[in-house]
Amino acid sequence: MVRFLADEMLGTVAKWLRILGFDTEYARDMEDDEILSKAEEEDRVLLTRDTELFDRAKKRGISAIYLPHAELDRDMKEIISVYPPEKERFMSRCTLCNSEIVEISKKDVRGRVPEGVYERQDRFWYCERCDKIYWEGSHWEMMRSFAEEIQE
Ligand SMILES: [Zn+2]
Repeated sequence: MVRFLADEMLGTVAKWLRILGFDTEYARDMEDDEILSKAEEEDRVLLTRDTELFDRAKKRGISAIYLPHAELDRDMKEIISVYPPEKERFMSRCTLCNSEIVEISKKDVRGRVPEGVYERQDRFWYCERCDKIYWEGSHWEMMRSFAEEIQE
């Protein structure tokens, strides 16, 4: 599966790609040279709003997608028209750090999630690195419908 490197302007796009299950690094506080080297070394497709960075990537033979519009829907459609997501990978990654999240048993989250959530939900996932627990709440549903919408 393709891996991405999103430039500093594309934090929201990076988050959404993680939600769709793509391994997506986010280039925060990185010089252009570092970004290009990282994309090259880790074989990542560079996503950028910066026309100069895009041109430099192309010259070095690095795959890149230029996203000039600053509209999330449009950006996402552009990316997934080239790299369609795999349905079963939806919500398999932590949106904060890009790690894969693992399912944990309900009893292990008792007292660590809001009481109402504990009562309503049966399945939970966990990011070890961020110590963050995920569940299929309303936020999740909203993300799923957005993901379906942009794939139409
Ligand atoms: Zn995390």
